[in-house]
Amino acid sequence: MGTVDTLRQKTAAYAVKEVVRLLGDEPEKHLKGLLDLAGLIAVTEDHKQVISTVRGYLDQTGEAQMPAPVRTLMRALKQMSPNCREKLLVDALVNSTLQGRVKRDAVTRDQGFRPPTIMLMSPTMRCNLACSGCYASNYKKSDDLPYSVMDRVLTEGKELGIYEVILLGGEPLVRHDVLDLIEKHDDVAFMMFTNGTLLTPAVASRLEQLGNVAVSVSIDGLAEAHDHRRGEGIFDRAVEGLRNLRAAGVPYGFSTMVTRNNAEDVIAEEFIDFLLDEGCLWGWHFLYMPVGEGADPSLMSTPEQREMLR
Ligand code: SF4
Repeated sequence: MGTVDTLRQKTAAYAVKEVVRLLGDEPEKHLKGLLDLAGLIAVTEDHKQVISTVRGYLDQTGEAQMPAPVRTLMRALKQMSPNCREKLLVDALVNSTLQGRVKRDAVTRDQGFRPPTIMLMSPTMRCNLACSGCYASNYKKSDDLPYSVMDRVLTEGKELGIYEVILLGGEPLVRHDVLDLIEKHDDVAFMMFTNGTLLTPAVASRLEQLGNVAVSVSIDGLAEAHDHRRGEGIFDRAVEGLRNLRAAGVPYGFSTMVTRNNAEDVIAEEFIDFLLDEGCLWGWHFLYMPVGEGADPSLMSTPEQREMLR
C-alpha cells in the first residue's frame, strides 16, 4: 500500500472511531454523520450507492417508516457495547472496505486473480454435541487445524486484502485458542457460528473484550423442534447463550438448519417473534445437506419446502 493509501486509511480509522464514540445511546442522531463518513471513505461505486440509498432513507422518513435493515442497524448500535461498536465498525468499514479493497485490487492487477472479500475457516470439526445427521462425531482432536496454520492463513489472507473471516465447525468454542486467535488478529472482523451451549457469561464477557466478533447461534425452532435433532435441554442452553451475549453487549443473530421436519416452523411468526424478542439482529437459514458418515438424506427439505422458503 502506498503512503497516500496508508495515510488515508489511518485518517479514516481515526474518524470512524470518533463518530462511533458519538453514536453511543443516540444512534439516530449520529448515524447520518457515520454514513457521510462511510460515503467519503468508500472506494467503489456500488458501496457508495448503498450508502447513499440508506442515507436517503434517513433524510426522508422517521424511524418507524425506515426499511427493516436500517431499523436493525439502529437496534444493533444500541445493543452493542461501545468496544464492539468501535472494533467491528472499524474492521468492517476501514480495514475490509477501504484498506482491504485497495489490496484486493492490487492483487487482481499484479497477480491476475481476485481474492475473495470473506474467508471461511473451520478451526475444528469436533463438537460437544451429537446432533442427528451431523458429521462432527467422525472427527478427532488430531484433525484440528494447528494454531500456527490458522495464524499463518489469517496473516496471508490480510496480505491479500481479506479482513472478514467466518469461523465454522464443528463447534469453534471447543477450542480455547480460537479466542486467542481472534485477539491476535484484532484488525479482522470475525463472525463465529456456534451451537451456543458454551457461551457462558465468562465467554460472552471475553468476546465483548475482544470486540471484533459477531456471533450466530444455532436455533432450529422452538424447544421441541430444536431438541428433537440436537438433544434434550439444548434449546434452553442455546437461549441462555443468547442472553449472555446480550448482557455483555456482543452482537448476535440466529442460524437455522432447515430440514424436512422443521421447514414450516422456522418461518412461522411465533418463531421469528421469539428470536426478535431475544435480541437477534440477523438470521441465516441453511438447508440440511447429507454429508459424511451417518448422514440422513430423508432430512433434506422437499422441493416444495424449498420453494416456500424463497
Ligand atoms: S452443533 Fe452443529 S456441529 Fe455440533 S453436532 Fe450439532 S450440527 Fe454438528
